[in-house]
Amino acid sequence: MKIVMKFGGTSVGSGQNIRHVAGLVSDNVKAKNQVVVVVSALAGVTNSLIEIADQAKKGTEQQIKDFTAKLYEKHEDAIIEAIKDSTIRKEVQQVTKSSVAELGKVLTGVCYIGELTPKSRDYVLSFGERLSAPIVWGAIRDLKLESQWFTGKDAGIVTDSDFGNATPLMNVSMHQLKERLGPLLEKGIVPVITGFIAATQDGVTTTIGRGGSDYTATILGVSLSADEVWIWTDVDGIMTADPRIIPAAKMLPELSYQEAAEMAIFGAKAMHPRALEPVIEAKIPVRIRSTLHPEKPGTLIADAENTKSTGVVKAVALMKDVAMVNVNGAGMVGEPGSYAKIFEVLGKKGINIMMISAAVSEANISMIISRRVVGRALSTLEIALLGRGLVSEITAEDDVAVIAVMGANMKGTKGIASKVFQTVAQAGINIRMIAQGSSELNISFVVKEKDGAAVVKAIHDEFKLDKI
Ligand code: ADP
Ligand code: ASP
Ligand code: MG
Repeated sequence: MKIVMKFGGTSVGSGQNIRHVAGLVSDNVKAKNQVVVVVSALAGVTNSLIEIADQAKKGTEQQIKDFTAKLYEKHEDAIIEAIKDSTIRKEVQQVTKSSVAELGKVLTGVCYIGELTPKSRDYVLSFGERLSAPIVWGAIRDLKLESQWFTGKDAGIVTDSDFGNATPLMNVSMHQLKERLGPLLEKGIVPVITGFIAATQDGVTTTIGRGGSDYTATILGVSLSADEVWIWTDVDGIMTADPRIIPAAKMLPELSYQEAAEMAIFGAKAMHPRALEPVIEAKIPVRIRSTLHPEKPGTLIADAENTKSTGVVKAVALMKDVAMVNVNGAGMVGEPGSYAKIFEVLGKKGINIMMISAAVSEANISMIISRRVVGRALSTLEIALLGRGLVSEITAEDDVAVIAVMGANMKGTKGIASKVFQTVAQAGINIRMIAQGSSELNISFVVKEKDGAAVVKAIHDEFKLDKI
């Protein structure tokens, strides 16, 4: 079999874990499989890079020095634990040293200029994966396998220049990945590729969105015509709810692409929201598996015909870090194009709308957007729309969360919505906004963030998801 294996940050959190990951790769190669490895940054590193990038523009050189020293130490510790052979170890230490030095220079540049552009932010973020991949490469060679490591850019993934959330240009990427990695696989060499990072056609570093290593893995899957893509993580598979909120959450053995994509979009953090796009047409199965329990089969995500769909409601997810923007105005009533104007204003600023709800009265519309951009959304809307007869008030609530109740068999089943809302009411919690897509695969609604976990629990209990 040809398998693309992606190891998330949680699976490469320490040198010991990296050694374990190398062992899993080795077992599968010895069982006569061709294996391609995709790695995320060590757990917590991407978040710390985001933080330092933001601080650097008003920070000091000393802060940057302290940060890079700590970052080097963290990776040095992992190298020593993961790699025993001293020659390989030295080689990886060299790469690590030079990457950390380069990062130091970039951050110092940001500090002097006092500005962090989306382009330089992506450059900073790319170091997480640029530091983790060489260690995995070293650990695999330490187990006497042949291996080569690549950045996503060197492997051939090309994207547009939407920094922070770049979209891969699939035709050129597929062609280059096949050309560069295909021959290595034929020779039994294990390619190790950084997840998350790629480059524009001009070679400028981009990132493909948080959690993007999952996406890198499926892009590689289609490009190399893999038999399966395995996403290794710290949970047994995709579960009926986030196990951190519901310890009794159950593992879902099989999901259709559509169901899994729906869950990913609504922040079942087990996957990047767009990760399944590349594999759906090619019908390449994806498995979510646990590095802690590799003997378990995990969740199989495949074509609806090949996945058993039992139960009506299958999962409930909680999406935090969102904000609700409300636009009100009697001027919008009966006015063609008024909603279009709102969407256009936000679209031009690159602000993505995740959920919409509008009443028949047409006098108000509510939208859910990422909390990170709420300030930008408000000022943009106010400048473009206020005081022009259409809109009289624009407000935002940034202490909200979206709850999504999901399952393919909800389609056409009566009474689900009423049961969901009754459950929330019985828990004494107020709903701020509701939306149900015509796909009927999910019902989503907005509550105050402080009530989020309680709502997830109430719904999980009501639909007996722990017994699914
Ligand atoms: P990785 O580092 O492997 O990419 P992530 O943190 O991105 O890991 O995703 C795995 C985490 O997703 C789990 O630890 C779990 O807490 C969280 N999670 C949220 N919702 C779900 C769900 N429905 N099923 C499984 N995991 C979930
Ligand atoms: N390291 C990146 C992130 O934290 C990509 C990933 O983990 O998939 O978002
Ligand atoms: Mg992830």
